[in-house]
Amino acid sequence: MTTLVMKFGGASVASVTQFMQIAQIIGERAEDFERLVVVVSAMGDTTDDLLKLAHQVNASPPKRELDMLVTVGERISCSLLAMALEKIGLAAISFTGSQSGIITCDKHTEARVIEVKPHRLLPHINKGKVVVVAGFQGVSRQGEITTLGRGGSDTTAVALAVALGAERVDFFKDVPGIYAEDPKVNPEAQLYQALTHQEALDLVRGSNHQVLHERSIVMAQKNGLPLHLLSFKEALDKNKSSGTIIGGSLKKSPEPFYEEIQ
Ligand code: ASP
Ligand code: MG
Repeated sequence: MTTLVMKFGGASVASVTQFMQIAQIIGERAEDFERLVVVVSAMGDTTDDLLKLAHQVNASPPKRELDMLVTVGERISCSLLAMALEKIGLAAISFTGSQSGIITCDKHTEARVIEVKPHRLLPHINKGKVVVVAGFQGVSRQGEITTLGRGGSDTTAVALAVALGAERVDFFKDVPGIYAEDPKVNPEAQLYQALTHQEALDLVRGSNHQVLHERSIVMAQKNGLPLHLLSFKEALDKNKSSGTIIGGSLKKSPEPFYEEIQ
């Protein structure tokens, strides 16, 4: 069975039009893969807006309540995407992180993924439905809702790919891939076509713009999982999407490795 995990960031799910465009991109990938899981971030600035709201109510909000609040952002985008997919005739169903079996430690706002038990997703995935998962969130063994830290949806995508034995994760970003320098500062900056996990990690650690959540690269490296970064805008044009491939030639680990509790 061929399995692909796709991840769409906040900038690519910022509007109704974009949900419809993403549905088209997913439809194209559905022709090449038997099993498709899609992870989404919250729409645009939703997470920042929710955090602002929390701090207006209480200058030092309890972290548990922050997690209850901000996880709503991803829940909005995963349900809307499932609706957009159904509209174009693709069977789809959305799940929260907790429903998807993303088990984390209990450190609210910065939880680590310790295990993934996707048994609620499997019957739908195996029936050929597009399963859409809310990124950035999980559940502790005590049943509390947790989040994985800012930008954590990338790590959700990798954790699910590891659990499902996916071929790779495709990340749709607002930039075409990883550059030697920030392309917004230097438009001539070189785009890397292929990197090892270690090279990608060093680049992400050395820059203040986290093009990928660092922990997602660490987890992919441990599991020999290739990652493909490409631009959401370029993906709309089939002939244009190249991007950056990370760890393209690695052997997959036979056993899943998630994160260490900090
Ligand atoms: N929405 C969350 C954030 O803005 C998670 C993510 O985007 O990956 O940090
Ligand atoms: Mg976000």
